[in-house]
Amino acid sequence: MKKFVIVVGMIMASFTLKAQKEISYEVSFPNLVHHEAQIALSIPAVPTTVPLKVRFSRSSPGRYATHEFGKNVYHLKAFDSQGKALLIKQLSGDIYEIVKPSAFVKITYTLFGNWVDGTYAGFDETHAHMNIPATFAFPVGMDKRPRTVKFNYANNNWKVATQLKPLPNGSYYAKDFQYFMDSPIEISAHKTSSWEVKNPDGKVQTIHLIAHSDDEQSTVDNYANMIKKVVEEQKAIWGELPHFDNNHYYFLHDVHPDYAGDGMEHRNSTVIVQRTPRILGYESNLLGTFSHEFFHAWNVERLRPKSLEPFDFTQSNISEALWIAEGFTQYYGNLTLKRANFRTLENILQNFNGLINAVTNAPGAKYFSPIQSSQYAVFADAGVAIDQTNQPNIFTSYYTYGAAVALALDLRLRTDFKLTLDDYMRALWKAYGKTEIAYTIPDLEKTLASLTKNQNFAHQFFNDFVYATKKENYTSLLLNAGLILRKASPGKAFSDIRRLTINNGKVVVPATLVGSPAYLAGLDIGDILLKADGIEIKAIDDFDKITEKHNPGETIEIVYSRRGIEKTAKLTFIENPNLELVAIESTGEALTPLMKSFRDNWLNSQVK
Ligand SMILES: [Zn+2]
Repeated sequence: MKKFVIVVGMIMASFTLKAQKEISYEVSFPNLVHHEAQIALSIPAVPTTVPLKVRFSRSSPGRYATHEFGKNVYHLKAFDSQGKALLIKQLSGDIYEIVKPSAFVKITYTLFGNWVDGTYAGFDETHAHMNIPATFAFPVGMDKRPRTVKFNYANNNWKVATQLKPLPNGSYYAKDFQYFMDSPIEISAHKTSSWEVKNPDGKVQTIHLIAHSDDEQSTVDNYANMIKKVVEEQKAIWGELPHFDNNHYYFLHDVHPDYAGDGMEHRNSTVIVQRTPRILGYESNLLGTFSHEFFHAWNVERLRPKSLEPFDFTQSNISEALWIAEGFTQYYGNLTLKRANFRTLENILQNFNGLINAVTNAPGAKYFSPIQSSQYAVFADAGVAIDQTNQPNIFTSYYTYGAAVALALDLRLRTDFKLTLDDYMRALWKAYGKTEIAYTIPDLEKTLASLTKNQNFAHQFFNDFVYATKKENYTSLLLNAGLILRKASPGKAFSDIRRLTINNGKVVVPATLVGSPAYLAGLDIGDILLKADGIEIKAIDDFDKITEKHNPGETIEIVYSRRGIEKTAKLTFIENPNLELVAIESTGEALTPLMKSFRDNWLNSQVK
């Protein structure tokens, strides 16, 4: 009994200590029309012997490039507990120093936000949409302290939706800084549709669709039913749903043509912003992002690369693993929609064909590995540059590249081992996902070796297709499923002068790709096409018409203008390398029972 009292006493003591050190925010919206929020940050138990640094983030969970969130902050002030102003020095764009802090410091500032997506903040009369790193300043060196946030808003129809834990006093709670930064908040007059999901271990959890859109409740409910099918199909891949931290998962959905389209995954929620007028009538289009983002609840949120741990808020983490974290998610996002019957065979073949074309024909994938593509994300993922980059020649997106690796591995496992990529994902889940042990690339290879019981295969696969730039033989692998990969325009001339634009009545060349006839001819971005094969170029399709009259191997003369100087070049056509993927039965050949069962086991529903 006495022992019990001591334990209770200790718990109380540690609780009070925590409460005393808790960092709290209060947010109000006195100027929504002009997209402003007022934010107050209270920091107790501040060490007074050293200056206190308060800063804004330069990165955001799920966004892989560095951003400058400090740019939308102004009127930043600091006060002690008596309301007396404290001296502030701004050390850099994002960092402020309170030179002589008191034991309690209150920071206040105004934040401008008019960009509704998964990365930034948006305040207007219809909602307060907050990505945490874009919104909240934080004291440096106090990451372990819990946080609470309270909102003051005038609109009685508004409700708060977030993965943060609601407290009885109306505020919201995060156990520490990392969790807080990962917990976006949507406050609006949204509609909600919720359903329960059950795991094989009997655990019941609730998934919520929070829809801030111009739709009826019945549309939101109907759309939630579609998402439910996607969730069930993905649960079948992994064998179970993750354990959400508070037994709840939230789709925070914002729909309006003025918004910036985006999907951003978090541990127990995802922000999905889409640019259609409403949900009704657009359900099928909208589902793709939902499917991708929910797959992240396993892949990246829990099955997580070491390179993203812990999340660095002073600059973006560089990761060598986005080809699996994003690419495999991309592959399964689409495959899930086919399995759940929201996509046709033709849809999914088009998708696969896009992946194969990209990794076969794009220079980014010819000369750079999936690992290098992943690492370039620190610049490519909505990173802002005003100068021109050579991205068309050095970067194939890790989404596409990784999805093509997933397709290759799925087909190899099915063909050579009577296993599937689903088996591999479950094995990874068991080893690194459910246990939340952050993985490295060698860990991934090790799991593939133990799953296939073939170390050589695993080693060769990673060596060739992950660390290097080799590509699988998609043609022979796809034939097992009765799918024919072939040249889309056999025998047709090709120059890679595509996507021409008209500027001031002149036909302008876009970036040309390494190794293409246009590149070898010396043509470069910004050149103005004047003549080809003796014919004047006046309209965008003029060059295509000339190309059609020629065969691969033939050479024509091109006259173009660069920086006002007229030049001449010789361009030699090659055969159009673009591929197409079709079902064997559409070519007049027979789909054998073996091919049919391979295809059905792969592309049909896995829900039992
Ligand atoms: Zn993603």
